[in-house]
Amino acid sequence: MSDCIFCKIIAGEIPSEKIYEDDDMFAFRDITPQAPVHFLLVPRKHITSLMAAEKGDGPLLGKMLYKAGELAAAQGCSEKGARFVVNCGSDGNQTVDHLHIHILGGRMMMWPPG
Ligand code: 5GP
Ligand code: ZN
Repeated sequence: MSDCIFCKIIAGEIPSEKIYEDDDMFAFRDITPQAPVHFLLVPRKHITSLMAAEKGDGPLLGKMLYKAGELAAAQGCSEKGARFVVNCGSDGNQTVDHLHIHILGGRMMMWPPG
């Protein structure tokens, strides 16, 4: 989608600190990190939000969730764990309308979220 920040990051039109990519997805560090480890995993396909995903996107979402865990471990979170967050819509405080998984680690997270 032409005016989507994350589509532009995937296309290399906006610079990012990439940590992973394959045919389906792309991961890069969040520009405003909320923890020592904070990166985003996004599908190459422009899906607006988790709740806009279609049934056919299921295998892609499954691959992304698995990869999120794998990448968190590779980023040093294997021993102490990590937080995986998908904000969705206005109540979910989603600010970029391209589906993304936040992966946060390197510190103790709070619960419940604010
Ligand atoms: P949301 O609030 O939609 O769940 O998360 C969007 C995230 O994208 C925020 O944590 C924000 O810091 C990050 N972000 C927004 N614009 C950019 C950008 O241009 N580059 C990078 N690396 N992260 C961004
Ligand atoms: Zn997009």
